[in-house]
Amino acid sequence: MTEVEHLPRLSIASLGGTVSMQADAPGRGVTPSLDCEKQLALLPQLRELAQLEIATLCLVPSASLSFVMLLEVLAWARAEIEAGSQAVILTQGTDSLEETAYFFDLLWPYDAPLVLTGAMRSASQPGSDGPANLLAAAQVALAQESRGRGALVVINDQIHCSTRVRKTASLAMAAFESPGSGAIGELVEGMAVYRQMPCPRAVLPLPERVEHRVALLEACLDADTALLQAVAAFGFEGLVIAGFGAGHVSSAWSDMLGELAPNLPVIVATRTGSGTTARSTYGFAGAEIDLQSKGVHMAGQLCPRKCRILLWLLLGTGQQSSLCSWLPH
Ligand code: ASP
Repeated sequence: MTEVEHLPRLSIASLGGTVSMQADAPGRGVTPSLDCEKQLALLPQLRELAQLEIATLCLVPSASLSFVMLLEVLAWARAEIEAGSQAVILTQGTDSLEETAYFFDLLWPYDAPLVLTGAMRSASQPGSDGPANLLAAAQVALAQESRGRGALVVINDQIHCSTRVRKTASLAMAAFESPGSGAIGELVEGMAVYRQMPCPRAVLPLPERVEHRVALLEACLDADTALLQAVAAFGFEGLVIAGFGAGHVSSAWSDMLGELAPNLPVIVATRTGSGTTARSTYGFAGAEIDLQSKGVHMAGQLCPRKCRILLWLLLGTGQQSSLCSWLPH
């Protein structure tokens, strides 16, 4: 047996994003252009840690990923684990990372880690963070302590759970946070050190259908109800509202949500960026007591974007009646 054959098998796929971006000429904007092979060429030491199985599944900015593409990525990742990989790493854009990580987490049935990472600086910028993040992702992916934690986001030497992680800065290097709970762990001298125990996980079956749509709208001052009316008229099957404060909307929106809720699942989350929605504090029209009495679900800790992912997957598997059990207070 060669030395390489003793190493664990680790699968890495590139989906695109800044981590794969370069300018094709000086002064031009960067675009996804480095495939997985080229990204790994920037990090030769990775081959000392593992036998690498690599793939470039797409090369797109992460705003252009779709649920169908993610299901294809998931099928590849599952096949890699079934073929004996100890873990899977996905490199992608950071813009939608908080959503894709939660999507994968809800569908990841293995103890083996699925680790997502990206970069805030492109491969052509000095101090590019892509190679460092990829190395950290591999160190986390190969650590025994990472097993049983579902899909993890590893970036800027922090380890985040996919339920909480959010991109909270547009261009800063420290762009990711897990509001409320903080990162679950960090990289210390190349080792994954966890500060929180693994949470019990529930996993959904693969969706049986994919054509359905869930709308996400943000409540804001003096907004009329035209877009809410359009949600039903355009055939959306679910609706998420990024509500004011503890999960509130105007009285006009509340009336409209009350009309929609008997026909499609409606979730109201908080648009604030951290904290939970209330259940029993405020008594005005448009607050949580009023909304719940109309059949609207309060999101609890789950941010609006992750609520939309959850609702889309539940609708796809016909499990929307279990929605409440997925919304932690
Ligand atoms: N700015 C993004 C990134 O950090 C672009 C994307 O999400 O694809 O990767």
